[in-house]
Amino acid sequence: MLEETIRALKSELPPDVELVAVSKFHPAEAIGEAYRAGQRLFAESRPQELLQKVQSLSASCPDIRWHFIGHLQTNKLKLVLPHVELVQSVDSLRLLQAIQAWANGHDRKVRVLLELHVAAEETKQGFSAAELFAALEQAVREKAFPAVELCGLMGMTTFTEDERVIRRDFSRLQETYREVRARYPELESFKELSIGMSGDYSIALDYGSTMVRIGTKIFGARR
Ligand SMILES: *Cc1c(COP(=O)(O)O)cnc(C)c1O
Repeated sequence: MLEETIRALKSELPPDVELVAVSKFHPAEAIGEAYRAGQRLFAESRPQELLQKVQSLSASCPDIRWHFIGHLQTNKLKLVLPHVELVQSVDSLRLLQAIQAWANGHDRKVRVLLELHVAAEETKQGFSAAELFAALEQAVREKAFPAVELCGLMGMTTFTEDERVIRRDFSRLQETYREVRARYPELESFKELSIGMSGDYSIALDYGSTMVRIGTKIFGARR
């Protein structure tokens, strides 16, 4: 069942679009099953939950890969950063600065996406466009984050059935992504546009998604 879903999803996605299996709230056994079906990349949104799953799966799933996609408090960096290859949800300058400090102290380079807030809900996290460009100015002109690799943009659409609104949100994300790349060609690693979830990933493909984050469609409803 899960194997079929993953295979069907992969055949729907263009070959250069990465499938991120969002496993938050689902047990380690379900992740193991997806792993045996060939999926390697998973994403979690809570530090403690990530840590537990990393520990319980590292032996049985040796080449599993993790992304972090939730709001990250600066005091939780030490739990998350050693285990993930990408933090998709960097939503403030303060967090970016804290990641820089951690990476510098651990002699590491940390790969991140900047989260842009475009949805109507105030509760969703992320930089405004103005804040985003201010952070990029610091990164490029002042070289303020040398231990952080800025790999692209992540975003979520408004929670709605209205496809026009979803397309408007994706369009803003794509335009901003293109503007960053045009303005800062020196940011060579700024290549990812992480847009699209279970309900809207096929629309996201129209707006240049390079990475879709899919939970419910793979693992079923979260409890
Ligand atoms: C939970 C979550 C997803 C997955 O959502 P589904 O609708 O279950 O596919 C994707 N991205 C983020 C940031 C999430 O928190």
